[in-house]
Amino acid sequence: MNKLTMKNIEKSINTAVSGGHFENLQRIYRTIPQGRCHGCTKCCMESVQTHYVEFLHIFQYLQGNRALYEALFPKLIQYYFLELVEKNPCPFLNEEGMCMIYSYRPLVCRLFGHWTEEEYEDSYRAVYNENLQSARLFKNKYGIALPKQVVDYKIQYCQDFEVKKRIQRNQRQNMVDNIFTMESAYFMRGLLTEEDLGTGLISWFIYTIFDREEASSLRLQVMKEYLEDGVSETLEELVGKTRAVI
Ligand code: SF4
Ligand code: SF4
Repeated sequence: MNKLTMKNIEKSINTAVSGGHFENLQRIYRTIPQGRCHGCTKCCMESVQTHYVEFLHIFQYLQGNRALYEALFPKLIQYYFLELVEKNPCPFLNEEGMCMIYSYRPLVCRLFGHWTEEEYEDSYRAVYNENLQSARLFKNKYGIALPKQVVDYKIQYCQDFEVKKRIQRNQRQNMVDNIFTMESAYFMRGLLTEEDLGTGLISWFIYTIFDREEASSLRLQVMKEYLEDGVSETLEELVGKTRAVI
């Protein structure tokens, strides 16, 4: 889909409610053993890949917490438009190092500490290669040099996460498959398209305001201004005037 209209979000939430998708999601989440960590928040440095039904789950929670959503929204805008030129923590992380959507956080966040080091490093290599490709594309197509510290940024494998039983690769895959099965309902109703697969958590929120093309072209403008001047007037204007749609 191009833009996430409120009409489609409402239809999607109705689909989720009638299909029991949020309960299923919580059931899947509950099968992941909670580990113990030092809460350093170093892993909260990304807009993690988020399934549509997970986004709906978070969106519905924020609809019921309007003041929180309105307060968070400028941070979401700021994060999205600067994501490729400056490394910032996930905007759902508050100043006390707490996740503001903790009970609703996506699968990827919940599974972070469960990877073995080998799996993690393999996955990082794939992500790094994508980053390099993306940096080449920005350079060749738009004349924008993405900063090295962003392209090379690595969330280190966490040695401090302690859990009695790790979730194995095949279990993770089963969880993803179960979520995809739920999502087929949105595909069938035309509420989700292939283009949406792999969308990051923050991008979903941005697409409630801008269509993908508009968001990309505004982002290019912001990036150019920011890299040239260290600030972006376009971004300041966007943060000042864009209000969350609920
Ligand atoms: S899982 Fe690891 S990296 Fe993430 S907050 Fe806990 S200790 Fe830090
Ligand atoms: S959604 Fe929460 S747990 Fe996930 S990266 Fe953001 S702050 Fe961290």
